[in-house]
Amino acid sequence: MLSFDPDKVSLPAGHYINGVHQHGAGNSLLVKRPSDGKPAAELAEADASLVDEAVTLADRAVKESGWASCPPRQRGAVLRRWADLIAADSELPRLEALGSTRPIHDVIQHEIPFTAEAIRFYAECADKFSGDVLPTRAASLGMLVPEPYGVIGAITPWNFPLSMASWKCGPALAAGNAVVLKPSELTPFSTVRMAELATEAGLPAGVLNIVQGSGAVTGSALVAHPLVRKVSFTGSTQTGARIMSDAAFNGMKPVTLELGGKSPQLVFDDAGDIDEVAGRILRGFTANGGQACVAGTRLIVQRGIAPQLIETLTRLCQNFRPGVTWDETSRYAPLIDARQAAKVQQVIRAACQQGGEILVGGERFAGTGEGYFWQPTLLAGVSQDNPAVQEEIFGPVLTVQIFDDEEEGLALASHPTYGLCSGVHTKSIDHALRAMRGIAAGTVWINRYGRSGDFIVPTGGFQGSGIGKDLGRQAFEACQRYKSVLIDF
Ligand code: NAD
Repeated sequence: MLSFDPDKVSLPAGHYINGVHQHGAGNSLLVKRPSDGKPAAELAEADASLVDEAVTLADRAVKESGWASCPPRQRGAVLRRWADLIAADSELPRLEALGSTRPIHDVIQHEIPFTAEAIRFYAECADKFSGDVLPTRAASLGMLVPEPYGVIGAITPWNFPLSMASWKCGPALAAGNAVVLKPSELTPFSTVRMAELATEAGLPAGVLNIVQGSGAVTGSALVAHPLVRKVSFTGSTQTGARIMSDAAFNGMKPVTLELGGKSPQLVFDDAGDIDEVAGRILRGFTANGGQACVAGTRLIVQRGIAPQLIETLTRLCQNFRPGVTWDETSRYAPLIDARQAAKVQQVIRAACQQGGEILVGGERFAGTGEGYFWQPTLLAGVSQDNPAVQEEIFGPVLTVQIFDDEEEGLALASHPTYGLCSGVHTKSIDHALRAMRGIAAGTVWINRYGRSGDFIVPTGGFQGSGIGKDLGRQAFEACQRYKSVLIDF
């Protein structure tokens, strides 16, 4: 029985600093439940002085606890225990389902196992990847020696609170850093429980801290803090640009930026079974109610297959039903809040004013009160400069564009601003490989859409979609700085 009563869940609505819960004394923020808009908790946000306390204690903890200097396998063992506790915890799934857009079924099936596995993956990295011995003159030994940064400031968005936190904390902690993490102010609960479990697993107090609050107050204080030596951020392109600039002017600290996307799904006439392809496209733009950075929201389909594919997608879109995230039968996510719903509506309206035609959906599901469940929406008749093609909507809206030949398809697939992901659906190796080379995106999925459980495959954007990678060996290496050493003998 996975369903639960949201009013009976006690919410950790505070900060977790140096292994202790704190409540802060800053501005009060009201956190609402995305499924029904009811108030969940009041959050006293961390002001600059509380952020200073968290970072200073993190800096002290990483130096004095031995976390940075202990044998890497020892760090790996703590992280493995942490992953086991996350996988087995009974509170965490409810906190995630109640406080975010993720239905409890998805949280149990995907979110929790993925979060735990990401941490296990980085537990393994702790003693697997090293620096380098460099080919120098015979009378010298040249080495590249990695070392942790110290304190890494991590900032995450609201769409997948737990897995986003694991992608930031896993590599940073495995590499011997301390982390001060600021989750989104819209989804503050589950990461606090995650940090408690880290302490239970043996992570020294102060090595992982959670500070809550808005981006403008808590987030910017974290980025600017002089003891934060690196910033790892996931969120919108606009905020990413701001953070990059703040990091540059506050100590020239490196940044990893995982930002927005507007990813194409390029379907050739020879894509194969229509139902299978339609299923991939559908999941690609409706998962988490379309609130995924990787969402494949631009269907670019070759003329021959277009009528059948569009007809199948239109039919499938009508099968979705809204349902609160604490009901085990719910499969479809609400939009995070009223503001997000207004944004989706505004872009659809603007798209229609410029020639767009709604084939299915286009509005909220009726009768869901203050829960903003948006109907899966297909928008045809859109040119490349239509706002629905250009802007990241962050809702379940798929634009449909038709092409005749490969060159035209590839031209439509590349986006002037974003370059996060892309899907290519074809049985032709030539189409597939030319598309792989031709589309400017950090990830190309061929005959699939979406990440797998292969954490070794990194994720990261080109252009306005970001700088650097999460996941993979690359994220671990990016949590270290490299010292060049030259020894003459
Ligand atoms: P957002 O940019 O509004 O906020 C993200 C985080 O940044 C939040 O914690 C917020 O409080 C904080 N923040 C805001 N302003 C800040 C500032 N000036 N200084 C420091 N921190 C600040 O994004 P969102 O609406 O929470 O999330 C949706 C966005 O995230 C979408 O654009 C989506 O594509 C992107 N995203 C990207 C990836 C990826 O891997 N590329 C993954 C998930 C989400």
